[in-house]
Amino acid sequence: MIGLPKLQSRKLPSLSVIANQAKNSVEREALIQAIQNLSMELQQTLVLEQLLDIFCEQVINIVPCQSVHYLDENKGIEWNTGTQQKHRCDYHLNLEGASFGKLSCTREYPFSAIDLQIVEWLVAILIYPVRNAMLYKEALSASKIDALTGIDNRMCYDETITREIAKARRHNNELSLLIIDIDHFKTFNDKYGHIVGDKVLKTVAKELKNTLRNTDQLFRYGGEEFAVILSSTQADMAHDIAERLRFAISQLALEHVDEILSLTISIGNSAYHKGDTSLSLFKKADDALYLAKNNGRNRVETAA
Ligand code: GH3
Ligand code: MG
Ligand code: MG
Repeated sequence: MIGLPKLQSRKLPSLSVIANQAKNSVEREALIQAIQNLSMELQQTLVLEQLLDIFCEQVINIVPCQSVHYLDENKGIEWNTGTQQKHRCDYHLNLEGASFGKLSCTREYPFSAIDLQIVEWLVAILIYPVRNAMLYKEALSASKIDALTGIDNRMCYDETITREIAKARRHNNELSLLIIDIDHFKTFNDKYGHIVGDKVLKTVAKELKNTLRNTDQLFRYGGEEFAVILSSTQADMAHDIAERLRFAISQLALEHVDEILSLTISIGNSAYHKGDTSLSLFKKADDALYLAKNNGRNRVETAA
């Protein structure tokens, strides 16, 4: 076993130096070609697992290995191929002070010095695509979070409701949807300003989240509207949960200068029935919400 070189802090031997150590010109050409192929192939995707697949496919053509293992403990990402053997080389993927995991290759006979140099070269080629894949992954997950309230956003709602409806359809599960809207929020904003309005939105999101069960999924649907997906929950129970949310928000006492502000929400509740789509389920909840507004606000209405 060898130590863990920090790739960014070591000057790599040039490709030509490595290639010159190849036994003959055919081998040298093949090596250069394989390394160039790897470089090009790694530009084909931003998905980490696909990058590692490509890397392995190519690396075993250049330096025989029986297993490749990738681990990023901080991000909880692990990827494996082959069966681990006795002899190994490990590399930390570090770039500009940031860690992008650790890669290990193993085989049943020792790695020669030139093998190690070549693997080091190949890993150096892998680092930038891995870094880009991580950034892509982070951007994707960040784009599902609402920047103001920190809860899941509309995009995440769309994905989740589609998945939940498919599950309800397949397994005949109960499923309910709540659409929540803050009452007279425009007046609130007009009177106290947008910054206070934003603080209220954050507080409401937090209170809703704290009042819900862990399995309930809360989203900021847009503006001052929230959605809650309640899986395995029938209409009556969803109505009770909605009542609990409505009550919790009505009890909030928001301190503002020398005033205590309060607010209310209205909620529309709808249950999944056979044949419902995400749109029809939403429409039923939205119609119920409209009814709650018309019936005086600070109310829960359940779709018939
Ligand atoms: P209703 O009881 O009928 O729902 O009345 P409303 O005033 O809450 O509804 P309306 O749709 O007329 O106004 C919604 C307001 O929500 C208008 C908009 O200024 C405010 N709003 C939407 N998004 C944000 C936001 O991100 N921050 C703040 N501060 N206000 C927002
Ligand atoms: Mg609204
Ligand atoms: Mg409103």
